[in-house]
Amino acid sequence: MLILTLACSTGGSKRPGPASPPRTRPEATAYRETSRYADVRNFLDSLRALGLPLTFGSIGRSTEGREIPYVIASRPAVATPADAKRLQRPIVYVQGNIHGGEVEGKDALLALVRDLAIAARPNVLDSVILIAVPLYNADGNERFGPQSRNRTDQNGPELVGVRANAQSFDLNRDYVKADAPETRASLAMFNTWDPDVFVDLHTTNGSYHGYALTYSPSLNPAAVFGGLYARDSLLPLLRERMRTRRSLEVFDYGNFLSDERAVPETTATEGWATYDARPRFGTNYYGLRGRIAMLAEAYSHDPLDRRIAATYAFVSEILSLVGERGGSIRSLSERAAAQPLAWGRSPDSLQMVPVRSELVLTPVLVDVIREVVESTGDSSVTEPGMKRGLRRTGRFTRVRMPVFDRFTSTLDRIPPAAYVVPPGDTAIVRLLRTHGIRVDRSDSAWSARGEAFTIDSVITSPRVFQGRRETRVQGKWDRALQSFPSGSFIVSTAQPLGTLIVYLLEPESEDGFVTWNFFGPRLKKGEKFPVRKLLDMSRRGRSRPRRSSTVVNSTPPRNE
Ligand SMILES: [Zn+2]
Repeated sequence: MLILTLACSTGGSKRPGPASPPRTRPEATAYRETSRYADVRNFLDSLRALGLPLTFGSIGRSTEGREIPYVIASRPAVATPADAKRLQRPIVYVQGNIHGGEVEGKDALLALVRDLAIAARPNVLDSVILIAVPLYNADGNERFGPQSRNRTDQNGPELVGVRANAQSFDLNRDYVKADAPETRASLAMFNTWDPDVFVDLHTTNGSYHGYALTYSPSLNPAAVFGGLYARDSLLPLLRERMRTRRSLEVFDYGNFLSDERAVPETTATEGWATYDARPRFGTNYYGLRGRIAMLAEAYSHDPLDRRIAATYAFVSEILSLVGERGGSIRSLSERAAAQPLAWGRSPDSLQMVPVRSELVLTPVLVDVIREVVESTGDSSVTEPGMKRGLRRTGRFTRVRMPVFDRFTSTLDRIPPAAYVVPPGDTAIVRLLRTHGIRVDRSDSAWSARGEAFTIDSVITSPRVFQGRRETRVQGKWDRALQSFPSGSFIVSTAQPLGTLIVYLLEPESEDGFVTWNFFGPRLKKGEKFPVRKLLDMSRRGRSRPRRSSTVVNSTPPRNE
């Protein structure tokens, strides 16, 4: 392990003595301020000085070169994935501050790691391994400015960072294309530690509801393992425990239809609808890796102390529940990883992979808590985020309404034995490897039964979104003998991330490599899609593909 000395631009001299646990910036300022980067570093250094069973490290560097710290909390301490494996406990990866202005995840996570690590009594650190990344978007956090500019609908603190990273990318749209160094560092952590559970901490503005926090599982229909388990088993129980043990109401993430026309196809005038199933969003992405993911959204209309308390309580309850269910959760992870391996051995075990989806329009009716908002009788602004002439009342009503909280597949694909990428497409191969996908290279030409995709239509967005023009193709796969040149890259689907491979490489996927325009102007009507399918790996010819390393273009995360 590399020992790093990390320079902080400020602070360092005011650390508490080794015997006193550090306080977070909000705790030290009566919840008027949130932590800056140097505060987080100093806080972690103070924890380190206490000699607790914690491992400190960096997931990688931000765009502006800041080390993005992580801390691993577990009893006994865990420093390597091999240590973690020996303990046979579930690994929970919790990330704060992906959006720089959404600050309470960062501060709640620091406080929680401290409180768990200094506790003398047994707690969740005896049954789970917690990897905390409190300050994921370190550069966005440092762009401190008035909340009225950086986070218009938020109830404090006065100074907060910005949503995007230093490249102006929204990191929670970057999980497929991985254009940001932060995303590549995050993927390297996933590849190295393979956490069983990923929790992404946000703050939501939007509808005036009665919940201290809203949550979401992976919504993508291809998230058949962790997505459904989180939705149907973990989250309902977490909701119950938040109510009974913490006196906090929480609910599925969403907005009232009256506030956001999220469901244009429905005739319902009132309802509650979730957001999006695509894996550009981190928690949806993580479900495609066969694991459990949970999005947590504190309520931006609550003051900072309540948002921190709600996030702290929710993450605590997640850790407890995952600790209790450690055996089931680890076996779920193992089954998810083993399923694509069976694809390679027995065609009977093939399972269709959903690559496009839509919101289910036959919702369930559920009571949703709404805050009564009333007219002020003038055009005054009563608080950030509230429309002119309206004010909150603090009165809540339960309204039974349709809840749109899940997606269904509209296009499924059968996994081939492998996808074959042309020898020149090294950017595609690099990106696959960044996702932790194994790619082999053939050292001779061969012919085999396969499929090629003929493009019938290409639509490329005139607008640049997140640095790229989104693209959609339609067409048809046709079976025929295929000739593959020497140097072709072979991506077998018989590996733990088989589902993700299909989702990323299928040309008609709603959020794959085509979507983010990685193939550029080569996609033309009437032409063949460059990536082809190989239906039978045993007909690959006599040449044996060379195996290459999994991760090549990102610095592996390291402990300090
Ligand atoms: Zn957010």
